[in-house]
Formats: sequence, structure tokens, C-alpha cells
Amino acid sequence: MENLLEAELTLSAPPPGGPTALDGLLPALAEEAIARTLARRGTGRLASFGLTHDVLRVTFESEGVRPHQAFLAFLRRLTEELGRKEKIGVRSVRIRRYRVEFDVEGRPEAPITLPIEHTLHIEGSRAHLELPDLPEEALRDNWVDRTIALVQEKIRRQSYQGKEQYWALLTQSPPRAQAARPDPTEAMLSRNWVRSGPTKGKWFLGPSAAHLLRTMDRIARTEVLKPLGFEEVVQPHHDSFDILLKTGHLEGLPGEFYYVAEPKSRDPVAWERFTDLVKITRKVPEEELARLVTGPTAVSCYAQCPTIYWWLSGRTLPTGELPLKIFDGSAVSNRYESGGRHGLERVDEFHRIEPVYVGTPEQLLDLREELLKRYAHVFDTILELEWRTAWVTPFYMQQAGAVGVEDAQERIKGTIDFEAYLPYRGTREASEWLEFQNLSIVGDKYTRAFTIKTQKGELWSGCSGIGLERWLTAFLAQKGLDPTDWPSKFREYVGEMPPELRFL
Ligand code: ATP
Ligand code: ZN
Ligand code: MG
Repeated sequence: MENLLEAELTLSAPPPGGPTALDGLLPALAEEAIARTLARRGTGRLASFGLTHDVLRVTFESEGVRPHQAFLAFLRRLTEELGRKEKIGVRSVRIRRYRVEFDVEGRPEAPITLPIEHTLHIEGSRAHLELPDLPEEALRDNWVDRTIALVQEKIRRQSYQGKEQYWALLTQSPPRAQAARPDPTEAMLSRNWVRSGPTKGKWFLGPSAAHLLRTMDRIARTEVLKPLGFEEVVQPHHDSFDILLKTGHLEGLPGEFYYVAEPKSRDPVAWERFTDLVKITRKVPEEELARLVTGPTAVSCYAQCPTIYWWLSGRTLPTGELPLKIFDGSAVSNRYESGGRHGLERVDEFHRIEPVYVGTPEQLLDLREELLKRYAHVFDTILELEWRTAWVTPFYMQQAGAVGVEDAQERIKGTIDFEAYLPYRGTREASEWLEFQNLSIVGDKYTRAFTIKTQKGELWSGCSGIGLERWLTAFLAQKGLDPTDWPSKFREYVGEMPPELRFL
């Protein structure tokens, strides 16, 4: 048998009539429940049942479809019937055993771990999973199908581990003569334009660097967002766990967040021991602090689009007014980059403008072309960069068929990375170029997750991450810090540079 669910129901009292009291009722209710829930997708049956005093054991089997929907429908009807006819309730439900079979893409290369009790055997491309002793909630919330999906995903990931993300060149600017220039972060450090920040991976930008970062911001707004009709929003800086659960970020990137904790109390009396210790020791009383703050309650902004989708959640957008084009330029992104940090190129806190667009698939494809044109205008004629674009997709996602990549015709959903050549890293061919922004169309993934609708037709969305520190480092790596070497259109945007600060 493909799937089997064994449950134990404790009743509020033994049914009058003894062990055979329910022999007529149970098969009838099971048949009705199976017909209502499973019949269209597979077959199922009540394989066995038995009543001992006030404990009822039932076993459902099924093929082609999992049996728990039928069991839940059966349980609902049984509760009704027992209550009405015998004044007996179902006090508790335990799932003693849930056994399922399903297909996987080959044998795993390493053991598959799961955070709940289980046994898992894999024979060829067929997996046998048994979960003992589940709460009723596990059926209502469909843990079983999610656990199956997790096993399949883990096996798929293992087989693509270490393989590079898919990368295919789309466009390339002509090469530009590059003077030998230093790492821009080193150059800015030596001129006191920036200072490595007081906490991990953060930078303090002095007036010259800040002026250039703001110049990049102005160029993005004036040359890209305004002409295309994007309107600005101002969003909160903390992302709720609920939002990140919906977008998938919470399961995808838990090790890259900065978590936010709250004081358990703002009453000075609660903090008295803490403040007294600070006064005496002049150190952070870490244990005392840990006692006084909560565990994480949210995360500091990682990307802006999740909270923008939250803003639109449950809304219906007028079809005639699509596409919706908005951007946030106020929430600062925080990411725990750990070993990957490097200068201003990979920092733990960065400034990003994130345009988000919601519309029909056709509208978003058109908008992507318009965005690509405006971006190209900025990088070719204002910043005069040597840059390229590439179609990128995580390897395992491609294989899962989530995104078509081989065939250009199918390149509808997915991400385009923009990369700049950094001369200080070596030759064009051998060195790693810097991803300085990207542009995605994600289909209905988020409009579905956040129930964002329109009056008629499909509603898709996408976003683009304009990383201002990356624009700045890409530019300075190619053009250097001396304004006389900068392209004239950029110089017009810069205007007067702030006076150089001197420290003695
Ligand atoms: P990477 O592959 O470089 O880590 P990512 O795929 O994590 O980038 P996204 O989440 O797609 O980046 O964010 C979009 C943009 O945000 C990037 O193109 C880049 O401009 C900027 N960005 C991302 N991480 C950082 C960082 N640590 N420091 C500075 N800018 C960043
Ligand atoms: Zn986004
Ligand atoms: Mg990253």
C-alpha cells in the first residue's frame, strides 16, 4: 500500500453498545469522506478499525493521493454523529503512524536529516517515509506533503552542490581604455573619504564619498525612475517574520539576517541593576542585558520588496491602472556577509533603491525592456562604464524546471545581473566582475503569496535592486577619485565636490 495513516481517537466516554457499537457507522462515514476528498485524484479505503473501551483506532490507506484529507473529513463527521446521537465527544486525536511513498531524483549522496522523528528508506527512485506519533495539527497544516517536498529538495540540492549558478552573457558594452587604478576602497581610505565603521561590515562615508553616493542616488531617480513613472514610497525598516515566511526568505537566508530584539520593559527600575553595573564596571554587562531583552522579534531590512508586497497584501489593483510602479529608497539593507565582506563592495549595511513593479506578464516584459534601456543609458553615457548583463539562475532551480534558461524564448521569469569590470582585480577574462545591480521578474510567486489581485487576468511582479555602494565602487574602480578623469555628464551631476577634509 502506498500511503497509510493510523490514528487513535480518545472519546469522552465508551459508546453504549460495546466494542461493536460503531461497526455500522464507521465504514459509512469513511466512504463518504473518501468520496468527498480523494476520489477524484486517487483511491482510498478504511483498512481497519477497532474500539477498545473509549479508544477508537482507525487505519486509512490510499493510492495516488495522501489519505489525511479523508481522515480529517471522517473525523469531522464522526464528531458530529457521536455528539448528536450519543452525546459523546472526541477528546484527543493522535496519529500513531503516517507512512508515505513518493518519487525522488535518485539516491542521496549524503544522509538526509529531518527535524522531526522519522524513518526514511530510499530504493532506487522511490522513497518510503514513516512519521510516528504526529499531532492532529500536523495533518491540518499538511506537514506530510511539506516534509516530502523537503526530502525531494534536499536530494536535488545535494546533486547540484558545488556546481556554479547558471550564467549566460546577454549584453556587453564595448571595452573601454582602463588606466591602472587601485582598489577604490583603499584609495578612499587613504584620502579619508571613508572609515571602516564601529561595527562589523559597516562604513562611515565622509562628505566626499557621501556626496558621490547621493549623486548615484540622484542619477538613478532622475534618469531611470522618474522617466518611467515610478513613485516613491517610504517603508518601515524592520521586516516581520510573517512577511519573510511568506516570501521564503526565512527558510532561504536565516544566516544572513540581522535580528532585532526588544527590551522586555522600558521601566528604569527593571534596568537598575544593568545601569548600576555599567556605572561601576564601564563595560557592557552582557548576561544582564541578555536577561532584559527578548529573543528576536523581527529582522532589520534585508531587501525592500518583501515589505512592499506586505503593503499591497489583500488589495485588488484596478486593471486599467496597471502596471503599478513604485520604489523604496529609504530602508537601508542589512546583511550578515561574514567572510565575504570586502571594502565597500560587500558590506553589512548598504543603501539600495528597490523599484517594484506589478502588472500583467506582457506589461512586465515591456517594462523590463524599458528599464534595460534606461539603465544602459546611465551606464553607457553618464557613468561611461565597461559593463555587461547576464541571465542568472541558481542551478538547482533550473533543474527543477522553475525557470527556463536554455531557450532564449523562455527567458521570461528570472534574474538579469549587471556586472562591472574592476581593473584592480586583474584582466577582463580572468577576474571576477562585480554585480552592481539586478533586475527580476518573479511571475506570480509573491502576488499569490500576498493575495494581491487585479480585476481580471494574471498578475505578476518583479523588482530591481540598485546597489548604490556597488554603483559607486564600480565607477571609482574604473574612473578613479580625480574628478578631472570623470565623464562630463557625470561631472554635471556631481557639481561642486565638498572641500577635502583634513585630519591632523
Ligand atoms: P551578491 O550575489 O553579490 O551577494 P545578491 O544576489 O545577494 O548579491 P540581491 O539580494 O539580489 O544581491 O541584491 C541586489 C543588489 O543589492 C545587488 O545587485 C547589489 O547591488 C546590492 N548588494 C547585495 N548585497 C550587497 C552587499 N553585501 N554590499 C553592497 N551591496 C550589496
Ligand atoms: Zn526584491
Ligand atoms: Mg548576497
